[in-house]
Amino acid sequence: MSKTPFDHLVKQFSLLPGLGPRSAKRIALHMLTKGRGSMIDLAQTLRNTADQMKICSKCGNLDMIDVCAICASPKRDTKTLCIIANIGDLWAIERTHSYQGVYHVLGGVLSVIDGVTPDNLNLSDLEMRLEDEEIEEIILALSATVDGQTTAHYVTDLIHRRHNQINISRLAHGMPVGGELDYLDDGTIMTAFKSRRAI
Ligand SMILES: [Zn+2]
Repeated sequence: MSKTPFDHLVKQFSLLPGLGPRSAKRIALHMLTKGRGSMIDLAQTLRNTADQMKICSKCGNLDMIDVCAICASPKRDTKTLCIIANIGDLWAIERTHSYQGVYHVLGGVLSVIDGVTPDNLNLSDLEMRLEDEEIEEIILALSATVDGQTTAHYVTDLIHRRHNQINISRLAHGMPVGGELDYLDDGTIMTAFKSRRAI
């Protein structure tokens, strides 16, 4: 039996992260039966987004201009570079309004299970930036997971091999704000102890 447009729609949805074939079919069915009118709007929105959103050729951020507004801003401190895994992490840091430097998005973290190797990350762009820009400090803002920390070690080695004058720091691991000691996992308590500070 030849595939219908519905089958193609389900197939496309099922390729999205977090959606399996069952939920893909449920969404497609919902759209056709309850939200038929909005399907054309959605198609147009998808087209506009694809046409207008750009990945910054310098840092990997998402914006309507290339280079992005952060890279183009004269107010940002271009000597401080924060390395993050994904664009979502960049947005999370921007929400805090506490960082004035610039960014570099790796596009993921190294992972044996997911088959992510150094070649899959934006590391050659990073090396180029280290050559071309006057970066004095690098902040590794990677997740406190095994993959995140493996990536942090790898990137640290990569930077120090040729630029050992650059200061590298990573985000502190420890107690979350509002966290109660009794409810924290052992790993968090251990690292919080190790990273204790004089008061
Ligand atoms: Zn940028």
